[in-house]
Amino acid sequence: MLADTVLCRGLTEGDRPLKVFGYLPQASVKSDPGVKPFAPPTIRRGDRNIYVGKWQALRGLKVDNIFGPNTEQVTKEWQNDNRLEPDGIVGPATWKLALDSDDGPAPAPIPTPVSKPELARMPTIKVVKAKYYQPGPRKYPVTNIVCHTMEAAEKPTTAEGVAHYFYLGCPDINGKERKASCNVCIDADSIVQCVLESDIAYHAAGINHCSIGIEHAGYANQGAAGWADAYSVSMLKLSAFYAAMMVKQFNIPVVWVEAEGLLNGEPGFTSHAEVSKACVLATQRKLTTSSYFNKENPSKPRSNHYDPGKDFPIDTYLELVRAEVNK
Ligand SMILES: [Zn+2]
Repeated sequence: MLADTVLCRGLTEGDRPLKVFGYLPQASVKSDPGVKPFAPPTIRRGDRNIYVGKWQALRGLKVDNIFGPNTEQVTKEWQNDNRLEPDGIVGPATWKLALDSDDGPAPAPIPTPVSKPELARMPTIKVVKAKYYQPGPRKYPVTNIVCHTMEAAEKPTTAEGVAHYFYLGCPDINGKERKASCNVCIDADSIVQCVLESDIAYHAAGINHCSIGIEHAGYANQGAAGWADAYSVSMLKLSAFYAAMMVKQFNIPVVWVEAEGLLNGEPGFTSHAEVSKACVLATQRKLTTSSYFNKENPSKPRSNHYDPGKDFPIDTYLELVRAEVNK
């Protein structure tokens, strides 16, 4: 992203209040001493009521509200496993232990290739949904990852701020919106997802249909020293973590692809700048069937963005991605 520089800065540097949706600080909820904890009645074989159903749900049994021999057997085994008297009767002690250790229904399995050790290392990914994107399913496989800079200062809330800007639909000073988004915004301490990988983000005209867009805090002109500061190093590690998940999910090679390669449909990592160069080449060569060609205005390249800048540390970044892929 490079246009609307001023707005991005505004959002992150506070000339209007930052609002981040869905992530309010933990409310300090005080327990009300007047409210008694839920105390279900004792249930045993032969009982038929909703408490039996609740117990069956807790034990992962089919819920029919009938305390039959199977429910009794499962109860005895669970009591035995939990050092309770295995009498098959669900009384106060059995209820208490079961309810105290209940984390609610098991979540549905997540379709992800991420292994358990990876999940343990995984940073929390916040979600602030962008207003504009093309809903999936995708017609084309994801073959490329496009790196951007947000053109916003390196602050703790930069990713959240730019995600909020996408949430609002990228309004300009007059409130006119622009169809722009990205899959994730990343700063030094957070990954904020704006568009799911299964949907198409509007981040780089010409390549949206087959790519994932990553927005990084900072500026395209920040120079090599800017990319090597502590903030950027931390951010690039987070970005590499996310990118490695995409590499595994979509079988994307960890190589850098320049404009010519993009025109040939080569898979790998690239920048918004290279996508723009591909758009220029498509215009010059009149590649009318290329996605990089501007069919509405054949003399005008589809993109002129040059982020994340000439000093984006391509080799360092790809090394970080490889390290994550191999972990
Ligand atoms: Zn960009």
